[in-house]
Amino acid sequence: MSRRIAAAAIRGAHQVVAQAEQEIQAALEKFGPDKPVAFPSTGYYLPTVYGLTGHAIEKLSDVRVTLDHAKSLLAPEPSEALWLPYLGPALDAGMATLFAEELIEGVRSLNGGWPASTNNGAKYNGPIDDPQMRAWGIQLVDGRMPGFAAIVGTAKSNEVAVKIVRELQSRGILVLLASGSPERGKKTIVDQLMEEGVEMGYGTYIVPFGPDTISAVHALGFATRSAISFGGLKPGQGEDILLYNKYRVFAFVLALGEVDDIKYATAAGAVSYGFPVIADTNIPNIFPNGLTIYEAVVRMPFDDIPGADDLERAEKLVQRCIEVRGVKIRISKVPIPVSYGPAFEGERVRREQLRAEFGGRRSSCFEFLRMRDTSEIEDGKITLVGQDMDSVDQGGALDLGIVVEVAGRKMQTDFEPVLERHIHHFINGAEGVQHMGQRDIAWIRVANAAYDKGFRVKHLGEIIRARILSEFSAIVDKVQVTLYTEKDDVQEWIKVAREAFRERNERVASLTDDSVDVFYSCALCQSFAPNHICVVSPERLGLCGSENWLDCKAAYEIYPTGPNRPIEKKGLIDAEKGEWESINQFVYANTNQSVERVTMYSMMDAPMTSCGCFECIVMMIPEANGVMVVSREDPSMTPAGMTFSTLAGMAGGGVQAPGVMGIGKYFLGSRKFLATEGGLKRVVWMSSVLKESMQEELQAAAEREGIPDLLDKIADEGVATTVEELLPFLEEKGHPALTMDPLF
Ligand code: SF4
Ligand code: ZN
Repeated sequence: MSRRIAAAAIRGAHQVVAQAEQEIQAALEKFGPDKPVAFPSTGYYLPTVYGLTGHAIEKLSDVRVTLDHAKSLLAPEPSEALWLPYLGPALDAGMATLFAEELIEGVRSLNGGWPASTNNGAKYNGPIDDPQMRAWGIQLVDGRMPGFAAIVGTAKSNEVAVKIVRELQSRGILVLLASGSPERGKKTIVDQLMEEGVEMGYGTYIVPFGPDTISAVHALGFATRSAISFGGLKPGQGEDILLYNKYRVFAFVLALGEVDDIKYATAAGAVSYGFPVIADTNIPNIFPNGLTIYEAVVRMPFDDIPGADDLERAEKLVQRCIEVRGVKIRISKVPIPVSYGPAFEGERVRREQLRAEFGGRRSSCFEFLRMRDTSEIEDGKITLVGQDMDSVDQGGALDLGIVVEVAGRKMQTDFEPVLERHIHHFINGAEGVQHMGQRDIAWIRVANAAYDKGFRVKHLGEIIRARILSEFSAIVDKVQVTLYTEKDDVQEWIKVAREAFRERNERVASLTDDSVDVFYSCALCQSFAPNHICVVSPERLGLCGSENWLDCKAAYEIYPTGPNRPIEKKGLIDAEKGEWESINQFVYANTNQSVERVTMYSMMDAPMTSCGCFECIVMMIPEANGVMVVSREDPSMTPAGMTFSTLAGMAGGGVQAPGVMGIGKYFLGSRKFLATEGGLKRVVWMSSVLKESMQEELQAAAEREGIPDLLDKIADEGVATTVEELLPFLEEKGHPALTMDPLF
């Protein structure tokens, strides 16, 4: 390691720690010592500090311990003349930097969060929230997401910035962005991508943390939480968390442009996690081998990379990053002319970019998947009946019917909707293609850029076939797809499809908890909530909202040893509360003997536990003799005196907490929702986003309860954010909860 770099890292650490001290002092004066400090929607406090040291920072006065710890890691700034055995001090400086950076970001969140980019109004994200961390963490662990890239600085040009990011996205690599590099213009890489119209956000696997290097610490906060969630490590096991990342998480830092002292200091922190640093400038090597699996620091001065032009150089740069970290790319091959991968699922196709659309307001589009006998279909037969996109004008619309026929020895008609539902994200994975809706309200938009690369209607069939065969190979052997674009064909087929949808609806409606003999467990979340298990029944879906009873049933067929297992309903204890001996036994045996009883339909007596991915939290409001339901998407204060993210800390982690329960939002419309406590009539307050997005289901439930105007009697954040505001509203509306039996 170069002595100059060690000195730079130590100098950078001194700067960041001093800045933290100043900002903390200012925050203490402004807010006082008891002001709660937390990142939004996380149960891991300030996660790098919490994970590596075990210290849970909850309020401003708690930060002192960490600041003192950071200071104790600082070696004196080395003078040029002084010889230092510098590796240890440089790594310590890296740790001190990460801690101080996280404290600064913690204070920043008190001052209104993360700013919009000055150049163009793009919103910075700040840290990744827990639900997203969990969703990506699972992908990192099972290999769907090969790794992540933390990019700091500014690319040589906007074109190079876009090229680098697209190369990473198409490999499914998560892109985390922070900082800029002043000598390459007053722009950050986020500015560069914004100028080129690149969509950023969770949906596209690009997260712009913030405009400065300090915000890059969120990459390590993400890595730390992944290790705790998925590696089964405990907060405070710092060394194990670093090793887990070194061997399990394929991440690297890409430094674009000049590397200043704070970047060196932050890089020193990243190297402790085993994440190598690749720079596109000529920086000296910072660290000896051994800290990371391959080289710790790689220099690739951009203009010296062999290549015909800058775009080719950018491609080689990314290629080298992947080699240095040993990232394994495993993307299912889909034979289409555009890039394909989960990073493109969240992309939108705007009106100006639109080549042609199917469905929406101007045409009909449906998708219909049915099971056939294996002799009736031919695998790989993809047929277009009718005209292609070439026949419509720029921005035009065409009718489309997608008929997918599948066969396989273990296929069942019950799995038709499960497979059909996947068409949505299968098609969305294509770059420049957007899919919305399902069944006969599907809506597909194709961008000019995709069309220009040769994307045509039959590629939709190619995508569906390739993905079904790769994900459902245990139940499906053959896939045939026919695409209809003539109006008459579409109208004729839509009748067939609607008849099938109607039958399916009836089958699902008749599928009640009483009509089946088995429920299913879901243990997917045990990787981070080892004492939590979901019990999924036809009338109660998993609390994450993404697993219903049929999904679990199909998943069990596909992987009998996987996370979903059947639980036979035996030994009824209480029909109203939904308690069975067999379920209690199963739950006890599968929660490390921590949960002895679970009722399916009560929140006051032995309610189901929660992992942390709930779409909503139900919580009692004793003063109103009712409950409130707050949505994950609602950041406002609730009458319980807590926001969703604070409540999430109480409801999660697999503990049974009578009076608080996480649920999937569709459970709100179920006959079994709080059946013991009086159902929907108990709800006195609900986030408005739920009232709006669930309007139909809630209205149906209200009518079933015999109070058709019930929704008007339920308050929301626009009416009340305190109990004092809530009660008069309920009185005035004559809410039924006020006269119901006492909740407890
Ligand atoms: Fe996790 Fe429950 Fe959803 Fe399964 S059903 S993924 S355990 S929240
Ligand atoms: Zn979960």
